[in-house]
Amino acid sequence: MNKHVHIVGAGLAGLSAAVRLAEAGIAVTLHEATRQAGGRCRSYDDAATGMHIDNGTHLLLSGNHAAVDYLRAIGVTPDFAPANFRFVDGATGGSWILRLGDGRFPAWIFDAGSRVPRTSLLDYLKLAPMLIGGADRPLREVLDRDSELYRRLLDPLMVAALNIDTPNGSSKLAAQIARETLLRGGQACRPLVFESGLSTAFVAPALDRLQRWGVAIKLEHELEAITRSDDRIVALRFKDGEIAIGPDDAVILAVPAYAATSLVPDLTAPDEFRAIVNVHYDIAPPQGTPFMTGVIGQTVEWIFAFKSRISATISHADRLLTLPRQELAQTVWREISDILEMDAPLPKWQLVRERRATFAATPDQNARRPSARTRWRNLILAGDWTDTGLPATIEGAIRSGRNAAGLIRQT
Ligand SMILES: Cc1cc2nc3c(=O)[nH]c(=O)nc-3n(C[C@H](O)[C@H](O)[C@H](O)COP(=O)(O)OP(=O)(O)OC[C@H]3O[C@@H](n4cnc5c(N)ncnc54)[C@H](O)[C@@H]3O)c2cc1C
Repeated sequence: MNKHVHIVGAGLAGLSAAVRLAEAGIAVTLHEATRQAGGRCRSYDDAATGMHIDNGTHLLLSGNHAAVDYLRAIGVTPDFAPANFRFVDGATGGSWILRLGDGRFPAWIFDAGSRVPRTSLLDYLKLAPMLIGGADRPLREVLDRDSELYRRLLDPLMVAALNIDTPNGSSKLAAQIARETLLRGGQACRPLVFESGLSTAFVAPALDRLQRWGVAIKLEHELEAITRSDDRIVALRFKDGEIAIGPDDAVILAVPAYAATSLVPDLTAPDEFRAIVNVHYDIAPPQGTPFMTGVIGQTVEWIFAFKSRISATISHADRLLTLPRQELAQTVWREISDILEMDAPLPKWQLVRERRATFAATPDQNARRPSARTRWRNLILAGDWTDTGLPATIEGAIRSGRNAAGLIRQT
């Protein structure tokens, strides 16, 4: 086969497409605008604190099977924590552990000692209509916002999974997340721990494999324009010149939605985005701190305890973008040190604000997601914003890349 595939964008969608194609022996060139691969899922050495940190702590669960397959394909053995989630209620100071067990069935729903305190089996059964399907509606129309289940589990979970204020979130995307994780029992809900950082797990081993398979990886190579002729792409224009796309060649455009719409005329795609803020503290957590703590009613939403650092995640965080950095780092530290009972002054910290972390997972924005095929037969779209059926997640991005590679292999 003489086919040559140009993949534009070396985030996880582009990388997963490249891995799939290159392992099948197809010639691939990967073009990435920035100096590093990984896109919105990357780590770096932070000069200010000396820490090796992620742009944002990413939560992945064992039920994210495409992501787990991708890690295995690039030679990484995933490290899973048990499916026990500690929650702390900032208003009352109360805490509990949601124990999801390790089975394939959500038995925890039937066990008062495992499920969310002060909830009954009936509270969970009431979610059935949403889970079965139907039209995509804002979650405020389908969830009982006065229930303890909402306050103690559904709201914190959906803010994190959808990166949106829960009432405005898409019921379809919420249901899909629940179907692929919570409803599959604890065996699908074990969190993956990336102690050495996201790039060490997702990016460096992939680049290593791709290079060994002969893939040309062009960093700082931003696509500026696409030349089309009737029903196909005929050239890609970069700053350093144009690359002709032959009759057997194909292009996978794996850039974020806002970049894709500027390159492809008339493309309908999500056009509203939401921020995520992470604060990383250069201090070891107390012995025995669980890997994750969900926090209700405070600024911090999730606390991640790594061996030598503590990271805080706040989703749907546009309201925090204008707050002074020092003030936010101090507020979040005060909350963390209370919750983890640490009597320590503000450690060295770094705050990362990702303004367009994900598209806004509302029904309206979800309806704007395009499928992978375009009207140009050799141009395929990939990325967490394409119509994957999932919110903007690692799993969605990797599936979209895998799907794009599959479409190319069929042609
Ligand atoms: C702070 C934060 C926290 C998150 N937390 C989670 C989480 O807990 N769990 C989870 O599953 N997901 C999480 N996500 C979402 C996850 O990171 C994304 O869904 C995923 O990384 C998207 O991958 P992608 O390849 O679709 O896009 P991107 O990662 O955006 O990759 C696109 C690539 O295209 C490149 N590019 C753009 N324009 C051009 C051009 N013209 N030419 C060449 N290259 C170009 C970009 O530089 C980039 O490298 C989080 C995201 C952020 C930002």
